Amino acid sequence: MRIEQELKLGFKDVLFRPKRSTLKSRSQVNLTREFTFKHSGRQWSGVPVIAANMDSVGSFKMAEALAKHNVMTAIHKHYSVEQWAEFVQSAAADTLKNVMVSTGTSDNDFQKTKDIMAMSEEIIFICIDIANGYSEHLVDYVQKVRVAFPNKVIVAGNVVTGDMVEELILAGADIVKVGIGPGSVCTTRVKTGVGYPQLSAIIECADAAHGLGGRIIGDGGCTCPGDVAKAFGGGADFVMLGGMLAGHEEAGGELVEKNGETFMKFYGMSSKSAMDKHSGGVAGYRAAEGKTVLIPFRGPVENTIQDVLGGVRSTCTYVGAASLKELTKRTTFIRVQEQENNVYGKE
Ligand code: 5GP
Repeated sequence: MRIEQELKLGFKDVLFRPKRSTLKSRSQVNLTREFTFKHSGRQWSGVPVIAANMDSVGSFKMAEALAKHNVMTAIHKHYSVEQWAEFVQSAAADTLKNVMVSTGTSDNDFQKTKDIMAMSEEIIFICIDIANGYSEHLVDYVQKVRVAFPNKVIVAGNVVTGDMVEELILAGADIVKVGIGPGSVCTTRVKTGVGYPQLSAIIECADAAHGLGGRIIGDGGCTCPGDVAKAFGGGADFVMLGGMLAGHEEAGGELVEKNGETFMKFYGMSSKSAMDKHSGGVAGYRAAEGKTVLIPFRGPVENTIQDVLGGVRSTCTYVGAASLKELTKRTTFIRVQEQENNVYGKE
């Protein structure tokens, strides 16, 4: 047994230190980033926020709504090939360039990914997503997908340490997804005791990825626009959001009436709800590692995404970053033991 003594940090443990700035207004801040990806050589430009590939977040409708802001959506993997065909036919090219096709690592998943990718040249992102990215099986699968799709952008995850980020990039991933345990409907830390505070995971994994010309997605744990800004400040190239985008019209979750109020169901992809729906229940050898919650219905996602992007723009003006690309260079975090003042309740 070993103990690492250095204290690892979550979003709640830091704040940005403000810095002198010549920016007059947050409208001067450019949130668009341009990337050329390591293996595929593909270019993408847009606002690097991604709706998570969860049942009641990463829907086709969400992709259409967020593409208006050049924001991405990782489409969840439970749509059929037929549903994909319909979507691809009707979607604008701008929407397709901003979607990721999510997949697991089975032979069926491989075939389905091939079928979907064959539908349009405009779709360039494949997101290979398993809960425990430390499995040797993921590395082999990334290699296989890289051979089959040499010019597509491959995302692989989830991991939280630099060694595994490097291994996945060397295996052919352009982008590595980072986060184990921080998610809003995740119970991995409770069920297994495994995890890594998300801000430290981002800082360490970004360092490892950037050294090799790779990119990372900070996935999970953002509860407010300030957390999204902290993830970018820590070095995340992209930030993925589940709970912050759940509960909206476009998310497509089940609506529930309770005491005269409307709620939308939201659940983890390893929760009992998800396994009942997609796998015929929780298998005897495993525990559910996600929970199910009811979120007060929030209407269209438009206001929320504007709030998130507005918050990040404002962070940039506080630290003097004229563009999102500069934010991490202008970031000094201070460690704190307080965040917002809750005397009148939470936002
Ligand atoms: P959030 O933005 O809601 O805090 O986190 C979203 C992320 O939580 C997802 O992108 C995914 O990585 C993770 N996640 C989703 N469902 C589950 C689950 O059932 N269990 C665990 N451990 N993580 C989940």
